[in-house]
Amino acid sequence: MKLVVQVKLLPTPEQAAALEATLRECNQAADLVARTAFTTGITREYDLRKQTYATLKERGLGAQAAQHVIKKVADAYTTLKANLRAGNLGPPTSPRRIRAENKPIAFRPHAAQPYDDRCLSWQLQAGTVSIWTTAGRLRGVAFICSDQQWAMLSAHRRGESDLVLRDGRWFLIATCDLPDVPLAEPDGFLGVDLGIANIATTAEGTRHTGRGLNAVRHRNRELRRRLQAKKTKSAKRLLKRRRRKEARFAADTNHVIAKRIVTEAERTGRGIALEDLHGIRERVRLRKPQRVTLHSWSFHQLGSFIAYKARRAGIALVYVDPAHTSQQCSVCGHTGRANRPGQARFCCTSCGFAEHADVNAARNIASRGVAGWAVSHAA
Ligand SMILES: [Zn+2]
Repeated sequence: MKLVVQVKLLPTPEQAAALEATLRECNQAADLVARTAFTTGITREYDLRKQTYATLKERGLGAQAAQHVIKKVADAYTTLKANLRAGNLGPPTSPRRIRAENKPIAFRPHAAQPYDDRCLSWQLQAGTVSIWTTAGRLRGVAFICSDQQWAMLSAHRRGESDLVLRDGRWFLIATCDLPDVPLAEPDGFLGVDLGIANIATTAEGTRHTGRGLNAVRHRNRELRRRLQAKKTKSAKRLLKRRRRKEARFAADTNHVIAKRIVTEAERTGRGIALEDLHGIRERVRLRKPQRVTLHSWSFHQLGSFIAYKARRAGIALVYVDPAHTSQQCSVCGHTGRANRPGQARFCCTSCGFAEHADVNAARNIASRGVAGWAVSHAA
């Protein structure tokens, strides 16, 4: 399985200037290739290379950089076509789609640039990289990362890394390729209910609350309101930074929760059952303040963190039908709206079983997980 490690670069001012000029030049070259692709209709990498490689070399790009630029454009066209096909830009008559189809793809001056091992080498012990730029090769560019990331890089880094400039800071996003871990036969399933007040609840009653996160969100929302009223350039910059910071904090929270859940499943030899959350936004109807929280809360991110951590640990994962998990009694199976007298309470009108609503839901998810696994592994 593939995953990425992001490390922060600490270039000197001179090194940063060279990196910046390189991104600029690569993206100008990419714009040029995109214009060729647009006017000729050629978007396959191989054919596009025949059309544009010589021109890029003349501009002074190295052979590797030229090839990466061409591949970047070809990939962008593949993505655009897939998006058009999937209807992500609307029907053929929508202005957005017409705009996208009637001009070449444009690259931001600082759009990320892929590097392979020939134009980027890692000196992990020294904590530096050597990287190609239009001003020649830069050696000894320092980077920082956690011990865990360092271990991951040294054991599993393969292939390309992306050079990224974000809010004035430099990053390398390296691809790591981990061997697949064989799946262990699960001894039961750990049911996980994803929610708003409690971000994740397991059938055993462990509740991972979003209290810290929701407090940060609330504070930021107030701040945003004040900044948006200002409409100055610096206010806009600050807003952008706050948004990124909030997203990072949310991702950290999700990582921690996902890790706890996967560790618990691993410790008890169980698989993990999650609700299939496709279309959660359409399904969930909430009062307005909660809807905002739900909207900004990324269930899918937590779900995907759990999925990849489970896969890394060889833990079985099943997605179950989410219908009525919160209204069904996990003891007798009776389903009804009246079983939910309050947001947090579950009380079965048929057998009298009472439990925290999220815990009851997680138990239903666990038993659906067992059933789902049995069906899919019957053969
Ligand atoms: Zn019941």
